[in-house]
Amino acid sequence: MSSEARLENDRRPGRFGLLTAIFCFVLAGAAPLFARNQAAGRDPKQPIDREYTDKIQKYTTEPYFTSPLVNYLPASKTVPTPKAVLGDVAGAPGILPYSSDVYKYMRMLEKASPRVKVFSIGHTEEGREMIAVAVSSETNLAHLDENRARLAKLADPRTIHLNDDEADQLVDASVPIYYITGTIHSVETGAPTALMELAYRLAVDESPYIQDIRNNMITLITPVVEVDGRDRMVDIYRWHLAHPKENWPPLIYWGHYVAHDNNRDAMGMTLRLTQNVLNTFVGWKAQVLHDLHESVPYLYDNTAGDGPFNAWLDPILTNEWEMIAWRNVADMTEFGMPGVFTHGDFDTWSPGYLMFIAATHNGISRLYETFGNGGADTEERTLQPGEYSRTWYRQNPPLPKVQWSQRDNNNYEETGLLTSLHYFEQNRKLFLKNFYLKAKRSVLKPTEEGPAAYVFPANDPRPGAQAHLLSILRMQACEISRAKEAFSVTVKVPAKKKTPDANAKDEGAGKSSDESGTEVKETEKTIQFPAGSYIVRMDQPYSRIADALLDHQYWSPEDPQKTPYDDTGWTFPELFDVPVTRVTDRKVLDVPMELVAEIKAGGGVNGSGAVFIISNNADTSLATLRYQMKDASIDAAEEPFDAAGQKFSRGSFIIKDANATDVQKAAEQLGLQAYAVASEPSVKTHPVRAARVALMHTWLSTQQEGWWREALDQMRIPYTYINTQTVAHENDLRSKYDVILFAPVGHANPTAIIDGMPTGWGNPLPWENTPQTPNIGKLDSTPDMRPGLGWEGVAHLQEFVRQGGVLVTTMDTSDFAVTLGLTPGVSVARPNHMKIIGSVVKARFVDSASPIAYGYDGSLSVYCDNGPIFDLSDLTSGRRFRQLGPEQGKRPTGRGTIEDPDFTPGRQAVAAPERPHVETWQAQPLTDEQLRNGIDVIPPASRPRVILRYGDAKELLVSGLVEGGDEIAKHAAVIDVPSGEGHVVLFSNNPIYRGETIGSYPLVLNTILNFDHLNAGRKLDAK
Ligand SMILES: [Zn+2]
Repeated sequence: MSSEARLENDRRPGRFGLLTAIFCFVLAGAAPLFARNQAAGRDPKQPIDREYTDKIQKYTTEPYFTSPLVNYLPASKTVPTPKAVLGDVAGAPGILPYSSDVYKYMRMLEKASPRVKVFSIGHTEEGREMIAVAVSSETNLAHLDENRARLAKLADPRTIHLNDDEADQLVDASVPIYYITGTIHSVETGAPTALMELAYRLAVDESPYIQDIRNNMITLITPVVEVDGRDRMVDIYRWHLAHPKENWPPLIYWGHYVAHDNNRDAMGMTLRLTQNVLNTFVGWKAQVLHDLHESVPYLYDNTAGDGPFNAWLDPILTNEWEMIAWRNVADMTEFGMPGVFTHGDFDTWSPGYLMFIAATHNGISRLYETFGNGGADTEERTLQPGEYSRTWYRQNPPLPKVQWSQRDNNNYEETGLLTSLHYFEQNRKLFLKNFYLKAKRSVLKPTEEGPAAYVFPANDPRPGAQAHLLSILRMQACEISRAKEAFSVTVKVPAKKKTPDANAKDEGAGKSSDESGTEVKETEKTIQFPAGSYIVRMDQPYSRIADALLDHQYWSPEDPQKTPYDDTGWTFPELFDVPVTRVTDRKVLDVPMELVAEIKAGGGVNGSGAVFIISNNADTSLATLRYQMKDASIDAAEEPFDAAGQKFSRGSFIIKDANATDVQKAAEQLGLQAYAVASEPSVKTHPVRAARVALMHTWLSTQQEGWWREALDQMRIPYTYINTQTVAHENDLRSKYDVILFAPVGHANPTAIIDGMPTGWGNPLPWENTPQTPNIGKLDSTPDMRPGLGWEGVAHLQEFVRQGGVLVTTMDTSDFAVTLGLTPGVSVARPNHMKIIGSVVKARFVDSASPIAYGYDGSLSVYCDNGPIFDLSDLTSGRRFRQLGPEQGKRPTGRGTIEDPDFTPGRQAVAAPERPHVETWQAQPLTDEQLRNGIDVIPPASRPRVILRYGDAKELLVSGLVEGGDEIAKHAAVIDVPSGEGHVVLFSNNPIYRGETIGSYPLVLNTILNFDHLNAGRKLDAK
């Protein structure tokens, strides 16, 4: 999946029973699994390419690292082998082709063989082409359109009125499509050459085994998914070949925006590569999407992986995973290839992986981890005991120590793929019928498991975010309808059980208002929706992806899987802050409605006048508008007000000196409702300036900040892209920037940010654009990636803030700011037993008058990944103990019952002064003792100001896994810390993440737009 080594070692007892059960089901349910596979190997009548075959054998390091399928290359008089482009065989040491070379070869194949066609499927962020190569018989390729028309009917069973007999006829007449994608992770380098050779074999090999594949199915290949990153990786490899004795620079930019998270985008559809692969998969009506990765020895088919499986998938699919995977293991074991297995640590819960495009669109998702060397060098590879030990699911494990070559990796990739293709072909009717059945069962969802639909109300106060979410569903190929008239639905209100509340101790002496203590039975309520409300019907072929994105997730702390591989919760309506109603009442499907092609928030100007008012509902478009109308004078209201017969919230924009046509145009384009009035409303305001924003990255990782860059680009908010080394050398940051965003680095400790990589030894690691590395150094560059921010950089950041700049930090960079003393009065507590792994949690606004909270009211669901846990103090003097709440009120040992007061024999009782109630997110009020000669007392105006805090323990979990949530419950989530003339704004949640957290983007945007008035609405402590 990625080179992060999370795929090992956690062998949990107690899993055996479950897996045995699954395996037995496969035994009983799928006879073809045990049908003898047709003899694999070359046709003796076909000549082989002797020279090429010798090279294959030369570069294969052990006789058992190959198979009868790939230990030779068939010769062709007309079709060129990969050597024509590579100059050597696929997988040869020292050879790593650029994407252009891979494409050049695929197009040579197309020219030379009627069995190959190349299709352009779109472009990357940096403008590089993506392709899909179809390989099949001449006849199949000549009838692609007819075949696609048949597959389209199976893909949408409504077109044949869910008629199984008609489906059977279509199955008989159709050839299936197996889609293979290579090198999404740019440091995993082997797939392109394996796929070049695979295409050649499929086109020219006349063995019956390959003929079966060619004649009865279409193999579709995207040899390079992350094209931008591939070309950079080849640059690095070439640099390494030119500097054989030196360390080489790590691939800091895998793609334009993100690193391994490009394989977490199948929900949000933010990246071009995801959009292009989805359009290809859905457009071709393919049955399988098989994605190639490299990290685990020697071939781990991780689709069957481990539980929990994603809850929204059809069990038909999860059984298909087992069938294909175990057959794959059996075939390759029979060939004598060690280290092939399928069960393992990877859970299949999150639907964010690229392969999941198939899983959520009625296909079959598959993923291989093979063993790559991160380049084309042949290396001695030494494994960890957990990797080479024999287990029940890995009876022929990898070897402890071997010479390993790129050719070995290519042999495993090609052999695995060929056996999969052949098995799929042999059972193609079963799989095609399943493809139809999964689509049919998706259409029948309202009458089977439900729900019937999801409804998005027409009167959503944040139409921009609503349109954004609906547009993602459109990209996912879901149908969206719009109600032609008002309607109502009945929804069930689930029973509230009174459970023993383990977190009750956190409730501040039982002061929580929502603690009722009574048991409430399931009830029903009726909800009214206005005409124009959006309805996502569940009786459509791709209902499962809509359901998976819009529903809530629950990951039990008791789940046997203790190491979730990725996020455990993602509920899009929560993260987008968009109200959506899950409706099981099937009457909703009878509401008169029409399909909508494009979803766009309506906008424009109402009324006439020289002043325009736009309400602030925390829509991201407001920030876009500010930068788009950069010459207009815009103020923000500091209090709610009425005007033009409307109510306007805090932070609403009041635009003056703007051309009415410009406002009209911008409002229409951005989906904002502007109200024109004759004169300014009388309300306290401050100017909203187009702040000069810098986004600072490290040279350690650009994975997390990449999502921030993506979001800013998407919203057309200009920024300067700087790095920690720039800051180290720039002693007047304030003259250039108003706001510096320091997005998460990713589990970086403060010293790593300061130190960077070791510079006391080794060679410089350049990241520069040179003739030798033409694809590198364009986003940013440095002659040496190693130095970090340094202590000068820390001082420069501190000075920037003191002079009025705003520094925004998140998660590990918040920890950095706190640890380095940039935020007096804030400390970070280490969790003891908390596990919040990529979950959606409830947060509540504490200070709605802060500009950071503009447009929000009450609460917000945010993305949280284990904090940090902030504590506040009005004293600078270091850390203090966390507030443990009720313990403070507990009585000491003494006379009487637990409710009684103690006494002191021989004197009258004296009542202690009552201590004020303090909330967990607040600082303890200062005592008179602390104030006397209070050297370390922070003056009221300089104290941290909490804007948003985490919810109470029992409401914290919105979606995903929350275990030990009481450790972070009620603690501050967003804090504005004044420092000199400026501010440091600390985030514990990640407000900008994977294009999925649109609801919390405005927390950052508000900070940017109000950078010089963050103290607005602030109430100061009396002392
Ligand atoms: Zn990977």
